[in-house]
This record gives sequence, structure tokens and C-alpha cells, in this order.
Amino acid sequence: MLESGSGEDSVTPACFLEMTAEELAVRLGRPGKPSPARANALLRWAWCNSRPFSLPDRLEGVTARVLDGLRAQSSPLQVTESARAVAKDGTVKLLLELEGSPVETVMIPGKGRVTVCVSSQSGCSRQCAFCATARMGFRRNLTAAEMIAQVLAARAVAPPGLPLRNVVFMGMGEPMDNLEAVVRAVAVLGEPSGAAVSPAHVTVSTCGVLPAMERFVSRCAAGLAVSLNATTDRQRQQIMPAGARWPIADLLSFFSRHGKTRIFFVEYILLGGFNDAGADAERLADLLDGLPVRVNLIPLNQFDGAPWPTPGGERVQHFFSLLNARGIRTMVRQPRGAGIAAACGQLYRSTPAPVSR
Ligand code: SF4
Repeated sequence: MLESGSGEDSVTPACFLEMTAEELAVRLGRPGKPSPARANALLRWAWCNSRPFSLPDRLEGVTARVLDGLRAQSSPLQVTESARAVAKDGTVKLLLELEGSPVETVMIPGKGRVTVCVSSQSGCSRQCAFCATARMGFRRNLTAAEMIAQVLAARAVAPPGLPLRNVVFMGMGEPMDNLEAVVRAVAVLGEPSGAAVSPAHVTVSTCGVLPAMERFVSRCAAGLAVSLNATTDRQRQQIMPAGARWPIADLLSFFSRHGKTRIFFVEYILLGGFNDAGADAERLADLLDGLPVRVNLIPLNQFDGAPWPTPGGERVQHFFSLLNARGIRTMVRQPRGAGIAAACGQLYRSTPAPVSR
């Protein structure tokens, strides 16, 4: 549920797809008498439909007059799929045009479940040196409805019978720079009559925008993954401009302060010859010792013009073993969809935009 009174949720939702069940119940009810039953019927319709980007003409249990009333308060959403790539492992990357802005969304099939990777912005302004998205610059923030639309579009290309289970905000953009919309999208995804993806199955990734991270943990129960990628401030600032504003010590203090109620993920992209030496692993273990974090090691997913090689398997394994030996909970993330440039850090709009309709 969205909290009220914080000032950050004060924007009125503009599209029915970004409304919570509570908000829909008010709009579909009578004055002073919300209708949760109608709200749940609409949510069920939306999540049983492959393209629910505008309201239906009819809906059982809701009169046409009530639907028209909601239609008058809900902006239509223009969603165009302009390209699709399918990897050998079944991962599907969609290039969507949302109100004319290019966005990439990835559907990742797994054992008995589907994960969808969502973009929170078209492009990004944060300029991380290892990230292909940084090269397209910042276009605009996406609305919560546009994030929900990505999940719906990705779910529509999932293998039949595989349920949507996880959503990660690890596509284009820095979610903390669009916090209000991301928090709203997480709340809507959790609606039991809709997607029913609880915040425990949602992870939001950040390059370490500390003030927004503080607001995030006070308002949203989703997991938080912080992209660290270096063990000294000097090294981090070379690849992440955000590191100049929010030093590593402040990020560690954040983990420590909120560790009683949460476990955080630390993302560490291994850049060959830059941050993948044994000494880096030892320093990382020193920094994270005793903190409530789990480390995801991500060997760099290559893209055109990437300034570092991807470290070889032995070097990755050595880094992993050193962290493991120090008691740091660590996983090596296997790249999914790398053959179609759909893996972490590879999302970049390279297909020409279609003529707008
Ligand atoms: S890694 Fe994330 S925050 Fe950094 S430029 Fe890429 S999309 Fe933006």
C-alpha cells in the first residue's frame, strides 16, 4: 500500500494501470462508498488480458456508466513493440516505444517461473562507464503505468504455463531518480487480484543515490541492490560519477543502519584488469565484514566499445572463493540473454524508432 502524507505520493495517478486497488475502489464506487469488488474485477481483467492498455468497453459487475467515469479520469497508454530478440536460453528482449520513448524490457524464463527486468527511465543520466545505457543519455522518467505496461508486455511473451514470479528494476535508468513512480509500481504489482508479485519478489537496483535510498527503505519493502563495483572511492569514481557524491563509507553505514530489518544485495561487476584482482576481493571482504549483505558477482557483459575485457572463468572463481572463505555470502550471476545484448548493463536502444502512430 502507498503511504500518504509523505509528500512523495502526492501526484494523482493518471492511468488506471498505475492505480492501487484502493484507488480504483474509490473511483469505481459511489461517493463515500468505495467498491473493492469492482476494483478487484478490473485488476483481474487487466492481468488476464494480453494488451490491457486501455479500459475495456464492458466488464462484468461494472456498469458502462461507471467505466466511462473511470475512462474520463484515466489517460490512455501508447505501447508499441518495435523490436524483439530471442536468445538461445529463451530470454526475450523487447524494444518498446512508450509514448514515443524507447525502452527495453527483458523476460527471463527460469525453473518454474518468469522474471521480468523493467526500465524505470528511458536512458539514464548517471554515466556509469561499464553500462551501455549510459551512452544513450537521459530521455525522460517513465510513469508507474509505463513500468506496469512493461511487465504486462514481457509476461505476454513468456512460455505458456510459467507464472510471473519476480520483477527486477535493473533495466534502463536509475530507479532512485524516479522514486515516486517506482514505489507506486511496486505497490501496484503487489495487488493480490492483479499481478500478485509481493515486494519480497521485487528487487530495485541503484548506483548508490543515498538520499533517495533512505526514502526508499522507509516507503517500500522491495529488496534493494546497490551497485558497488569498487573497493576504494578513487577506483569507484573512475567508473561511477555517483561515487564522488556518496562515498563507500556512507553506503556501508546505510547497510549497517538498516540491517536489522533488511538484507541488501551488493552488485559487483567484474571488469577485467580493473577490479577483479585477489587484492580487490580481500578489500571487498574487509568492507563488508559483518554487514547484512549478499554479494552478486557479475562478470562484465560485453557491449560495443566496452573498455574492459570480461574476466575469464578462473579469475571469477578465484574472486568468488576469496569472498566465500571470508564468510561473505556470494553468488556469481550467470548472464542471461547475453547473445542478444539483454544482459545486465547491455540495454541500449540500437534499433531505429518506428514511425509514430
Ligand atoms: S548502471 Fe544503471 S545508473 Fe549506471 S548508467 Fe547504467 S542504467 Fe544508469
